[in-house]
Amino acid sequence: MEDFDFENRIISPTEIMGENDNDNPLRPRTLEDYIGQEKVKQNLAVFIEAARQRNETLDHVLLYGPPGLGKTTLSGIIANELGVNLRITSGPAIEKPGDLAAILTNLNEGDVLFIDEIHRISRAVEEILYPAMEDFAIDIVTGKGQMAASYHLPLPRFTLVGATTRAGQLTSPLRDRFGVNLRLELYSPEELSRIINRSASILGISIEPDGALEIASRSRGTPRIANRMLKRVRDFAQVLSDGVITLDTARTALERLEIDELGLDSNDRRMLEAIVKFYNGGPVGLETLAAAIGEEAITIEDVIEPYLMQIGFLSRTPRGRCITKAGLLHLGLDISSGEETQMKFE
Ligand code: ADP
Repeated sequence: MEDFDFENRIISPTEIMGENDNDNPLRPRTLEDYIGQEKVKQNLAVFIEAARQRNETLDHVLLYGPPGLGKTTLSGIIANELGVNLRITSGPAIEKPGDLAAILTNLNEGDVLFIDEIHRISRAVEEILYPAMEDFAIDIVTGKGQMAASYHLPLPRFTLVGATTRAGQLTSPLRDRFGVNLRLELYSPEELSRIINRSASILGISIEPDGALEIASRSRGTPRIANRMLKRVRDFAQVLSDGVITLDTARTALERLEIDELGLDSNDRRMLEAIVKFYNGGPVGLETLAAAIGEEAITIEDVIEPYLMQIGFLSRTPRGRCITKAGLLHLGLDISSGEETQMKFE
């Protein structure tokens, strides 16, 4: 079976190098420019204002939700609204406790430290993070045996913003040390359409409202995908017509990119089809399914499933994943065709 190609997948919500750098002009800089996530924004505005009035650092913030929904963006906004620096790193990038100690001791008073994929930090690093978050201090041990010496190092007060795709993956001592927990939701097509219009005006792309809505409704509830699709559709509009993105050009472009009207691409379809053909519609365990389609279980859980569940094509039961009636209908399949196929396989 052909492997999933997430690197080149236009609807992959994971970042591509360079797309996420700090000069990204599409990244909103203020809460006001950040579209959607109303509840999160309202609460955050209060916490930021309260911290500012008391002249204190903001409590540590945990952001969770699928990739591409605006967690990194939000950490930049928090720093910007507080008028402090932002330092960005990620769980896998902090290999040793010393790496984290170096980052922490270089912070200025009040700075925001953003740790992406915080669930992936090692145990040893996590141990350093506890006193850093709680007491703004770290204990460093140097040397071994009789030569060992321990230093208590005070740190500047800082705000940790941690991002994770699933809060459940965090150890509870770590989770408990965040004063603010915010969950980001997939965006509605209307919100995505506003994001697309905003991005189009920043990039100087002309787009008609129904063209924007068409791209929005195929963006899997994810701003990063919406922005990426906008750029690809612009290419088609430029080469195939007069450069304006209309409903028609959007449709043609997205068809050429093999993204269907709900935003599913060939990889989503292949996964759903595998559930039908090999497992009779499910239930099938995550690991088994991952092996069948040659993909990592974590990618299925973080990247593919949230949207398929949101649109009601996939259900998660204690015994495994099942395709729903709506999913079967969309793919033009039925379980009986799966049974036939399964018998052929036996
Ligand atoms: P995450 O950190 O959750 O993976 P990012 O913060 O990198 O996601 O967001 C991906 C892209 O989507 C950003 O470059 C930004 O341009 C855009 N984006 C995300 N959220 C919003 C929003 N609420 N309003 C406008 N643009 C957004």
